[in-house]
Amino acid sequence: MEMATNRAFIFLGPPGAGKGTQSKRFARRCAVPHFSTGDMLRDAVSRGTELGRLARPIMERGELVPDDVIMKMVEERLAEPDCAGGVVFDGFPRTLPQAEQLGRVLESKGFGKPVVVDFEVSLDVLMRRLTGRWSCSVCGAIYNAYDAPPKVRGTCDHDGGKLVQRPDDRPDVVKERLVAYERQTMPLADYYRRQGLLDAVDASAGMEDVSRALEAIIKRIEGRDGRL
Ligand SMILES: [Zn+2]
Repeated sequence: MEMATNRAFIFLGPPGAGKGTQSKRFARRCAVPHFSTGDMLRDAVSRGTELGRLARPIMERGELVPDDVIMKMVEERLAEPDCAGGVVFDGFPRTLPQAEQLGRVLESKGFGKPVVVDFEVSLDVLMRRLTGRWSCSVCGAIYNAYDAPPKVRGTCDHDGGKLVQRPDDRPDVVKERLVAYERQTMPLADYYRRQGLLDAVDASAGMEDVSRALEAIIKRIEGRDGRL
């Protein structure tokens, strides 16, 4: 896919929306880097950069790395030459202050206005996807009680291992994660909507449908910018 240069894409979506997979796929197709702040932090820590050394003890304590450290890291990363053709942000920004700061950074680095894509999925679908997830205690194979069940309930098809559920995937925990996500991200979506930068895809559809919807958004944007 041809893409206008210097375009930042921001993918927003709750856990279970399929945003991680789609954003990676999308970045690959546009041949631009894919950023998740989690990956960037882990990378900075393992390379022992100044910011990595700053973030490491915070992460080791299991605390959230402060916004200014994250922003600094994003800013440094954006200055690298592989970002010249554009970037894809996956799950960043998470908060309104981060979004405002990112806007300023993008502008100062000569990026155009970001294209923000919201992955819309109903709570029911998310609950189904997330709480239905079971994995084999032996080989780690993943099943979904609703969409990809094992042949025999509670048992791995490959090795007969017992299927277990991660504590994070229990219904009460999932509900809590989703509510927390919504509370944090709503203002963000509104912020981008008010600026006319927000697009949405129906992320309850299958992988290929979502990919096609993303391509349609790009085509429309490129057309609008007169770059087709
Ligand atoms: Zn197994």
